[in-house]
Amino acid sequence: MPVDLASLRIQCYPAPMLRNKAAPIENITDETRAVADRMIQMMYDSEGIGLAAPQVGLSWRMFVVHVPEDEGRSPATDPPSATLGPEVYINPILTNPTGPVEPYEEGCLSLPDIRGQVQRPPNITITATGLDGKQFTRTASGLLARCWQHESDHLDGVLIIDRMMQMSRLKCRSALRDLERDFEG
Ligand code: ZN
Repeated sequence: MPVDLASLRIQCYPAPMLRNKAAPIENITDETRAVADRMIQMMYDSEGIGLAAPQVGLSWRMFVVHVPEDEGRSPATDPPSATLGPEVYINPILTNPTGPVEPYEEGCLSLPDIRGQVQRPPNITITATGLDGKQFTRTASGLLARCWQHESDHLDGVLIIDRMMQMSRLKCRSALRDLERDFEG
């Protein structure tokens, strides 16, 4: 069934779609490219640094990221911790996490007003397919590595509230209840 780009909306917790395991993308078509473009626009409109297809209601294994260069992170380091622009990852697989896990405060466009400390390894490798149909493998560190892990989690139905450290989990309990109460499926 064709995707109606104009109808795509960011799904907020507890939308059931956010808990699904997304399906691999078999063919990269004009529609895949159009959806990726739309997702990049939605990510910018919402001032996010990443957005996964299940967050816009599509059970597809695809996400977009744009981690801008800033103090302490760069697309030019080896491995990079930022991107030069928006990037699209299709059917991504993460491998080779290295380094001791580090806590960092994460937010999520599907969990408005919720932030919390999540521990993740600081370096990771990704193998994915780009919109040109070519597979690539890259390694990242810092915020880019974290962003890949956060967005890949979305493809498996995992949210930051599942990974938050205990203190953060307790702090966001009432905000989560508010989202549950306000949800209109
Ligand atoms: Zn998220």
